[in-house]
Amino acid sequence: MNKGKLFLVATPIGNLNEISKRALDVLNMADVIACEDTRNTLKLLSHFDIHTKMISYHNFNEDYKSIEIIELLNEGKNVALVSDAGYPLISDPGYELVNKVIEEGIKIETISGPNAALNALVASGLSSTHFLFYGFLNPKSSQAKKELESLKDFPYTIIFYEAPHRINKTLELAYEILGDRKAVIARELTKIHEEFIRGNLSELVKVGELKGEIVFLVEGNKKEDEVDYEIIKKEIDDLLKKENKIKDIVNEIADKYSIPKNKIKDLIYNHN
Ligand code: SAM
Repeated sequence: MNKGKLFLVATPIGNLNEISKRALDVLNMADVIACEDTRNTLKLLSHFDIHTKMISYHNFNEDYKSIEIIELLNEGKNVALVSDAGYPLISDPGYELVNKVIEEGIKIETISGPNAALNALVASGLSSTHFLFYGFLNPKSSQAKKELESLKDFPYTIIFYEAPHRINKTLELAYEILGDRKAVIARELTKIHEEFIRGNLSELVKVGELKGEIVFLVEGNKKEDEVDYEIIKKEIDDLLKKENKIKDIVNEIADKYSIPKNKIKDLIYNHN
């Protein structure tokens, strides 16, 4: 008997119009949809008039549900895995199932779609050439501190998911451990109140209460030796020639290169 396929289907992170035609086709065609929360997925399915049978698959039943799903796949049934939002497996259940499915030699297809981390990254203004998706920090501050310590020297943009009731504490910890770097809060992506708050960590710690769903991004560690001071000196020269105020030059250069203001003042005053 032919085995079925496992489809990993990304679903909207807020705006239902972001469901793809292919995702709808697969959700309609599948014999079973394995959902993180059947009540949430039912809203999605009802909206698109899809009546496929659902079963639950979440963090607390991954073990035995994976076995049940493998049985279905071995019987030739097609199974679509979805989470409450975005990609399954990305800070969501599915890892265990995917590994069991690979072990069984069953085919997997991914159905592309929305993802909060990437939506946040591309509009953040932070470097997107290389980046690390970290997901959630440990909810315990002592553990989160250790995690941030381990990320301190990472040279590329880091993306975190965070709950609204923890974001202010996380911003404080990040400022304390990572120093005053550029950072971005991306809130309520794809929804009516979508918002990007960009600034340095010293500014973002003062932002006040934040509601809704949040992605938090920080710039990587810019090591001193990676900064080309010859280019910066030239830029300072040009700005001085244009008779810009020292204060404005310091702010502009500090913002552009994320280097301490004292260091820039040093370059200006000890300039030959
Ligand atoms: N699987 C999802 C994905 O692919 O993006 C992530 C699920 S994770 C359990 C939920 C977290 O993702 C939220 O706490 C928040 O950090 C982030 N998130 C999800 N939707 C979001 C949105 N519309 N705006 C901002 N962040 C969002």
